[in-house]
Amino acid sequence: MSARSIQAAKRLCEERGLIFTTLRRQVYTLIAASEKPVGAYDLLEQLKAVRARPAPVTVYRALDFLLEAGLIHRIDALQAYAACEIESAAHEHNHGGIVLVCSECKRLTEFEDAALEALIAARAARHGFAVAHRLIEIRGTCEHCPVPV
Ligand SMILES: [Zn+2]
Ligand SMILES: [Zn+2]
Repeated sequence: MSARSIQAAKRLCEERGLIFTTLRRQVYTLIAASEKPVGAYDLLEQLKAVRARPAPVTVYRALDFLLEAGLIHRIDALQAYAACEIESAAHEHNHGGIVLVCSECKRLTEFEDAALEALIAARAARHGFAVAHRLIEIRGTCEHCPVPV
């Protein structure tokens, strides 16, 4: 994981006129510090260490904010959240990332591929399809884990 630093995340929010509240910072910090994507329930549990009785609805709102701001991604394969690893401040929340999801250790590797992006855009356009979300999740086994037999 090479998530943005908290300072970089704060700067990114400021550049877009967004407010990085204490809760948003706390939620982002927990996600960015985690080696694996974190589920909402685990986040709530971990937040209890830094906040008295965090309300689930406010935590979900903070997650929505972080998703919109492009700081985190929701990884559908794991039903969990991970910090975006692409250090470009220019990308939006629906930037065309590709995540390799290890089924064994749950660790992620995120990268971008302009050629693949262009191909998806062209194919979608051919079908008159407007792409809204395009984080591609690929499941498999990372270099540190044994390939299951
Ligand atoms: Zn990303
Ligand atoms: Zn692995």
